[in-house]
This record gives sequence, C-alpha cells and structure tokens, in this order.
Amino acid sequence: MQVKSKLALLGGPKSVQSDPGDIFNWPIVTPEHEEAVLEVLRRGGMSGTDVTRQFEKEYADWIGTTYALGANTGTEALRAAMYGAGVGVGDELISPSVTYWASCLQALSLGASVVFADIDPDTLCIDPNDIEHRITERTKAIVAVHYCGHPADMDPIMEIARKHGVKVIEDVSHAHGGLYKGRTVGTIGDVAGMSLMSGKSFATGEAGIMTTNDRESYDRALAFGHYDMYSEENIETEYLKPYAGLPLGGYKYRVNQLSSAMGRVTLKYYDGYIAEIQQAMNYFWDLLEGVPGIAPHRPAKDSDSTMGGWYAARGLYRPEEVGGLSISRFAQAVSAEGARCGPGTNKPLHPHPLFHEADVYGHGKPTNLANASRDVRQPLGSLPVSEGISARTYSIPWFKKFRPHIIEEYAAAYRKAAESYEELLEDDPGAPEDIGTWRFYSPA
Ligand SMILES: *Cc1c(COP(=O)(O)O)cnc(C)c1O
Repeated sequence: MQVKSKLALLGGPKSVQSDPGDIFNWPIVTPEHEEAVLEVLRRGGMSGTDVTRQFEKEYADWIGTTYALGANTGTEALRAAMYGAGVGVGDELISPSVTYWASCLQALSLGASVVFADIDPDTLCIDPNDIEHRITERTKAIVAVHYCGHPADMDPIMEIARKHGVKVIEDVSHAHGGLYKGRTVGTIGDVAGMSLMSGKSFATGEAGIMTTNDRESYDRALAFGHYDMYSEENIETEYLKPYAGLPLGGYKYRVNQLSSAMGRVTLKYYDGYIAEIQQAMNYFWDLLEGVPGIAPHRPAKDSDSTMGGWYAARGLYRPEEVGGLSISRFAQAVSAEGARCGPGTNKPLHPHPLFHEADVYGHGKPTNLANASRDVRQPLGSLPVSEGISARTYSIPWFKKFRPHIIEEYAAAYRKAAESYEELLEDDPGAPEDIGTWRFYSPA
C-alpha cells in the first residue's frame, strides 16, 4: 500500500511535476493547415465560396448526411437550423437549461419562446423523462445538446418527438464525431447545428455548420442567410423560389474561407485527432476508477457511444462520498497539485432575467412571451438538477495526446485531493452560492 503524500495545498509536494509539453495545445495547426490558409489569403479568396462549398461537401460525406451548410458561426448555424426546422412566431422550443446560450436563445429572434427542460445528472444532457409533459400544441422543436461531448439519449427523445410531430435539433458544438449507439451525432435528429470555432474539438477559426437529410430544411436555412446561393436553381422547395436573391432572414452567413481552408485540412485528420484524445481521456478516467467522490462523465464502455473530442471535459462530483466536501475546496486542492481544476459548469439559463423580463424588440412585454399563448417563464427552484449541477461538476484536463506518464501525474492530483478529503474538510468554507459560468472559452 502506497503511503499517501501530503496535499500540496497543505505544503506537500505537487502531484504534477513534469512539463506537459504540447499535450494541451489547441487547435492543432500543421504546415499543411498553414499552406491551405495562405493559398486562400494570397489569392484574395477570403470572401469567395469555392473552398466553403468543397468543405461542406466533404463535411457531409464525413458526418453522413445528405446536406451540410456552412455559417459564419455556430450560433448562426443553429439559428439557421431552427428556421430550417420551421421554428417561427408563437412556437415553443424545448431546450436543456444547462448549456451554452446559443443552443436556444436565437429562438427569440424568430418570434418563438424557449421552454427549458431539466438535465440528467449523469449525462449532463437533456433528461428524456422531463420533456413530454412540457410539449404543447405550440411546441415546434426539441434541442438535444451533446453536452461536453456526452451524447444525449437520442432514442427516447426521437420517440417522443415523432409521437407528437415535433422536430429534433441537435447541437453538436461539443461532440463532433461522437457516437450514440454507433450512430454519429448530428445525423440522428431532423437538423443539427454546430460550432467550428477555435476552442471546439473541430476547430476552424470562426465558423459553424448545419447538417440535415431533409431538403426543405436545407433550402429554408439557405434562403434565410445565404443570399449569394439563394437562386431558383439552387432551391428545390417551391414556395421559397419567388424570393431568391435576397436573404429571407436579413442575415448573411457566408463563411470566411480562411476558416473553410482550415476545416478542409482538419477533416482529413480529425478522426485521428479524436481517436488519440479518446485514448488519453479514457486512460485518465480508468486510472481514477473507484476513487471516492469523483466519477467519469462518459458513456458506458460497452454502449458503442463515445465522447467525440471530449470538448470542455467534465467530471462528476459526489460530495456525499467525501464527507460533504465542497466542490470549490476539492477543485482548489486539485489545482494546488498543479492540475488546474475549475468547479462547476454552465449556469442554468432558465432563471436569467433575459428569459423573464427583457423586452428586446419593443413588444411592450418580455420578448420570451411576445407571441406566446401562456406564461412560459420558469422561476428559480423549477429545475432542481440544472440548478444544483455546478456543485457536482468540475473541469478535468483536456489531453490531446496519449502520453501516459503525463496523464498519470494529473490523475494522481485528482486522486490525492479526493482521498485526502478528511484533511480538506477542516478548512472547507463550503461552496459559494454562485458557481458555474456563462461560457467555457476565453479568447486569448
Ligand atoms: C460554442 C457553442 C455554440 C455556438 O457556437 P459559436 O461558434 O461560438 O457561435 C452553440 N452551442 C454550444 C453548446 C456551444 O458550446
């Protein structure tokens, strides 16, 4: 039996001693990426569309949908996906409360309202058991976010949606290339939208993409924000043809081709990148099996489901196994070991005053109710799992390379902090009321 060494927080040696090298570097930029970007730059092709059309075609082939449509951000890819799915005035969109705001907030600009569902405490994705009772005759779509890489439980979600004639929009911004029971996320719902910005596991600079097998959804999204492609020849949906030439939404979604060029090269190697990330991250969690207080956020090993590129990787925290030690004290102890650990995850969206009070467009009433048939506002206390989840989650290192000796040192930091919980309890001030964040990514 190894003798536990003293916590670094209490003056002991740090668990992490080695230089991590490039294990955390992101995004991966090779000379091939540089060449591809420079080629576009040198010929002044930034505002063209040839590279983007190529990228869309290759992306659709890779993910396995009939269509892919680029956008300048993930936020706009998702707004286009919502419009594509038919979300409009007076409709309701059901979204998990714990996610980045761009999974749902755009619905307000389409004249719709957002209704939040709770999340599952183990997957951190929308809880399929908290959806059906929220469906009304106004519900147009359910958003399934594959949160922090974990695939949402799509089978029951699709079953509920089909039963009620509601569309499913996947937000794949955290999970490009992830599998749900062997199927690639972003191909299961009616439409999907995803971010391709630099912090995400599929990083192109600043862009987004929508995927679908449905021609009408594709045509609607194209007509909404791509005036340059919106011609009678490019559109099959008859009712959209008369308005060709001008974007229906008044939005312009064309992608900067420096990003498309980056994306085309990344696509060639992406499966390899995430295979190594998966090996590294699974190794980290395997090392921590059985440690009290902490549990992996990943699908069961025999489920044929994966975490994609493990974007914004989290761990689950079980304070009841460690004497009630607060998440903030635990994270502080891990960080002191040399493994930066942040308590919490995204804050729940449902209590934010934007969804309760803000009159954004001058309707003379809260925008979230502007066209609603009922008061959809959800007060604090209404979604207990979402409201408490930041006290039960923390960030873990995002390893891009499988380097066992480095990963072992980081795992040792988590193990030491968790196993030393009794010493940490002595000076535990408790978790602050306000943990969690509105975003994960801080621009450099
Ligand atoms: C990043 C993100 C988006 C938005 O993407 P951008 O490219 O930043 O506009 C949407 N949904 C989720 C869950 C995200 O994390």
